[in-house]
Amino acid sequence: ETAEAPVTERTLVLVKPDGVRRGLSGEILRRIEAKGYTLRAVRLLDATPALLHKHYAEHEGKPFFEPLVEFMMSGPVLAVVAEGEGVIPGFRSLAGATNPTEAAPGTIRGDLGRDWGTAVVQNLVHGSDSPESATREISLWFPEL
Ligand code: ADP
Ligand code: MG
Repeated sequence: ETAEAPVTERTLVLVKPDGVRRGLSGEILRRIEAKGYTLRAVRLLDATPALLHKHYAEHEGKPFFEPLVEFMMSGPVLAVVAEGEGVIPGFRSLAGATNPTEAAPGTIRGDLGRDWGTAVVQNLVHGSDSPESATREISLWFPEL
């Protein structure tokens, strides 16, 4: 008997407050689905400082850390668990480079992101950067999963 292993790779995507505010949530979800990934869970919420400090723990102490947390509390965040083969690097490719000015056309940040020269890069989306990060971040944003 040969059964293909079930696809279980999952990543955490956040549509950041700039994306929600600009009405780009649907466009961003559309790109995730158009690529062939499945939406497993979706939640619109106001992120708390405690959640953001845990989520961005690796950046604590960097000059942009406090502005980043402030920005992430400037409006609701759309948290998404996306699933599919290779979705962790795959969504990072869809998102493009961190700086929207450098992000390639065709990517979410390249096509839709704007760099306003603010203290924090307002780049529309977050995507987990490794399987370990994905597991950790999904448990923070979706403790019930
Ligand atoms: P990514 O989101 O592409 O994984 P990082 O994990 O390095 O990028 O950074 C987390 C977030 O912090 C970025 O998405 C961006 O919003 C912000 N950020 C990163 N580097 C800078 C910087 N040098 N100046 C201002 N904001 C930054
Ligand atoms: Mg990161």
